[in-house]
Amino acid sequence: MKYRELGKTGKMISEIGLGCEFLDRKPYGRVKEVIDAAIGYGVNVMDIFMPGTEVRENISKAIGNRREEVFIQGHIGSTDINQQYDISRDMPTVKKYFEELLRIFGYIDFGMLFFIDSEDDYKNVFETEFITYAEHLKAQGDIRHIGFSSHNPVTAMKAIETGIPEMMMFSINPAFDMLPADQYALDNIDKFFGGEMFRGIDPKRAALYKLCTQKQVGITAMKTLGAGKLLSPDHTPYLEPLTLSQCVHYALSRPSVASVLPGCQSAEEVNSIMKYLTAIDEEKSFAEIISNIKNDFRGHCVYCSHCAPCPMEIDIAAVNKYLDIARLDENNIPPSIRSHFNALNSAECIACASCENRCPFGVPIIENIKDAKRILA
Ligand code: SF4
Ligand code: SF4
Repeated sequence: MKYRELGKTGKMISEIGLGCEFLDRKPYGRVKEVIDAAIGYGVNVMDIFMPGTEVRENISKAIGNRREEVFIQGHIGSTDINQQYDISRDMPTVKKYFEELLRIFGYIDFGMLFFIDSEDDYKNVFETEFITYAEHLKAQGDIRHIGFSSHNPVTAMKAIETGIPEMMMFSINPAFDMLPADQYALDNIDKFFGGEMFRGIDPKRAALYKLCTQKQVGITAMKTLGAGKLLSPDHTPYLEPLTLSQCVHYALSRPSVASVLPGCQSAEEVNSIMKYLTAIDEEKSFAEIISNIKNDFRGHCVYCSHCAPCPMEIDIAAVNKYLDIARLDENNIPPSIRSHFNALNSAECIACASCENRCPFGVPIIENIKDAKRILA
């Protein structure tokens, strides 16, 4: 494992870390298996955005006396009001959830301002008691550094310009970075750091990477695999799927990125991602594949649940997941997919669109729900 400096935090973190989201609702044995496998490879940074007490305690127990060896990225404002992942800016709620995280882990290395995607997110965090609370936590040593998570380059830049965050978690993969095929000609991606550094990349995202470099804001990358879609022949936006190593290498090749944090739910998945560590250059090279885009990736669900909470308590990520599986072959839908879908309450959707306003990836959720009912109900 190689280690990189995470911007001005000065901390050396493993190039591959662990996103712990898939450990949610898993038995302790499974959690321990994944944590042990990751640490065994030299992973020393883990993202814990999940608000549930049980998963937090399971991870802490699995880390055990290795707490000092691991940097924990914990999120301020991540809650699970109404049993769903939720974002809160209500200070008593924010404090309750974050202080529980502190109780479980003792301290948090990277205290992340959760989900700074919109102008409202920015205002409700950087212009309120929220940011004072984060700075107070840092002054007390409860958090060692202030970071934030975002999927929106424009809001992320605004957050960085405050000078407060020392690091950022950002969604990075080639499909999110690149402009649609008709807007660019990507012919020499190996020159990313030369004069053609950001040719083909969405200018807003290019500007964000540049700002991070200027301000020494280190990046941990999420959504590196696009929820597995970049690896899938059926879902990839390119003419052929990428490999795990290519996806990891893409994110690690972006300016200021110190680590990628893929979510793993078994030791086997950890082993798969760690093949990157011994991959040769040809196996990591992604240039040829991503120069052959077949459609725009935006608008496709990556099952992140950032659209929650739904007032009708619909599990939107699950609806999209079953829909994606069903769309692969509408005439041959596995009965289990149909019955899982029908156990969800998607019929109760009132088309309020609050989920669509929160989705960072422009997914047409209401249309998808209608389509899922047509295909699966
Ligand atoms: S609809 Fe959007 S926010 Fe919701 S799970 Fe899918 S990608 Fe994430
Ligand atoms: S549009 Fe439907 S799925 Fe989305 S939040 Fe409203 S009720 Fe829930």
